[in-house]
Amino acid sequence: MSRHVSVKIADRVRSAARNRCGYCLSPQHLVMARLEIEHIVPFAKGGSNDESNLWLACPICNRYKSDKTTAIDPQTGETAALFNPRTWGGDKQG
Ligand SMILES: [Zn+2]
Repeated sequence: MSRHVSVKIADRVRSAARNRCGYCLSPQHLVMARLEIEHIVPFAKGGSNDESNLWLACPICNRYKSDKTTAIDPQTGETAALFNPRTWGGDKQG
């Protein structure tokens, strides 16, 4: 399976994300590079190209997240799931 996402799906994700990064919320017009379609569950870890697994991210957030799905919570020292921008409901606001 290819990680390629069709233009049609990419356009729908971009619209649902209101054309801003799902992590730092930077809008496209304030980011020098094109916002990227990212896999919430990384493709390298079995994440699919299904629209429900895709969101928009700026290159900085996307590179920082990389293929991680969890991180250590600095307050508890426990492993915690990374933020999922689709659960935030940003596509339903405004
Ligand atoms: Zn970002």
